Amino acid sequence: MPYSCQGGLALFCSPTGSVLEVIRDETGLMDHLGSQPLLSRIIYKDDRRKLLNFLLRVRSYGSAFDWEIAVRCQEQAVPFYFAGVVHEEKILVVASHSQDGVYSLYEELMLINNEQVNQLRHVLKEKAERLYDTGDEEDGLWSDLTQMNNELINLQRELAKKNAALEAANTRINELLRTDPLTGVANRRHVEDFLGQAVARSERHGVPLCVVMCDLDRFKAVNDTYGHAVGDQALQGFASVLLENCRTEDLVGRFGGEEFLLVLQDTTLEAGGCLADRMRQKVATAVLVAEGVQQTASFGVAAYRAGEGSESVIQRADKAMYAAKNKGRDRVVLENETQPDSSLSPCAEERGKGA
Ligand code: GH3
Ligand code: MG
Ligand code: MG
Repeated sequence: MPYSCQGGLALFCSPTGSVLEVIRDETGLMDHLGSQPLLSRIIYKDDRRKLLNFLLRVRSYGSAFDWEIAVRCQEQAVPFYFAGVVHEEKILVVASHSQDGVYSLYEELMLINNEQVNQLRHVLKEKAERLYDTGDEEDGLWSDLTQMNNELINLQRELAKKNAALEAANTRINELLRTDPLTGVANRRHVEDFLGQAVARSERHGVPLCVVMCDLDRFKAVNDTYGHAVGDQALQGFASVLLENCRTEDLVGRFGGEEFLLVLQDTTLEAGGCLADRMRQKVATAVLVAEGVQQTASFGVAAYRAGEGSESVIQRADKAMYAAKNKGRDRVVLENETQPDSSLSPCAEERGKGA
């Protein structure tokens, strides 16, 4: 089709101006789009930025009317009137040499595509009543605003990235503050905090709570015989056995050098004793120090008593642990089972069943 630069042009384009579908072209302009179907290719070079502003306006407000943008007609700048509306993910662009042409083309499209076009008609009428002035001054202002808006978006993006990094760093710092660096389990401060919360929960809901103190047997000899590095590895292995046998609602913490405290929620004394005995057996069969070297641990178990506070339940678990040492080590002793010949009751009770 030869250029006529008369009549109207209607097309769908992407928000960035790639032509997706030509609905109507009485101008012949679209025949000269070439291999790159960019709307800007039919625009006179001085007005390409204005086209981008127009598209931005459509995207931001849902529609834009009466934008005078020069098209490239046989290398001449020919002023066209542009109107656009957002349609689904695309932009419907209508352009005509005359303002009336735009409106009548729109009217025509409205008849074709009734539903959303009713909306268009409404906007169109409104716009037609008060013509929009696209003078240079306003265009300049709009460009400045666009630029500022883009800068703001970039800044917000940067800020969001920095905030995310800061949040990740804070999370990591909090993790480090709560963790024992050698074994990766909770440190003493965290295990005490956790026990405080578990005590409060037990008081509030009347649920059982059990505390286990455990300590590696004759550990000094491990360091003396195999060196401190092997001792460290044994501590890590011991912590892993304890962790592997706990539920997620329980907590394992390093209380002192080779002493660990377990906080077992919803767990009775007997159930805690059974769990401790399972751990004891796992420790005794694990390779913590070296192949063929058996390393054992002793466990003391105490149940929280309403109103007593966390200090005293720890003390009773500690006392029970020392009773286990005195009885010969590699064993579990429940509080009030601290007599020399008392033995652990059968592990029939499941945890979490209540006191
Ligand atoms: P018992 O059976 O009575 O508990 O005897 P034990 O030798 O384990 O007890 P003792 O308290 O005499 O010794 C504990 C040892 O634990 C002494 C210390 O060198 C060692 N220890 C404490 N913390 C660490 C640590 O972080 N790494 C290593 N390798 N050893 C540690
Ligand atoms: Mg020890
Ligand atoms: Mg000790």
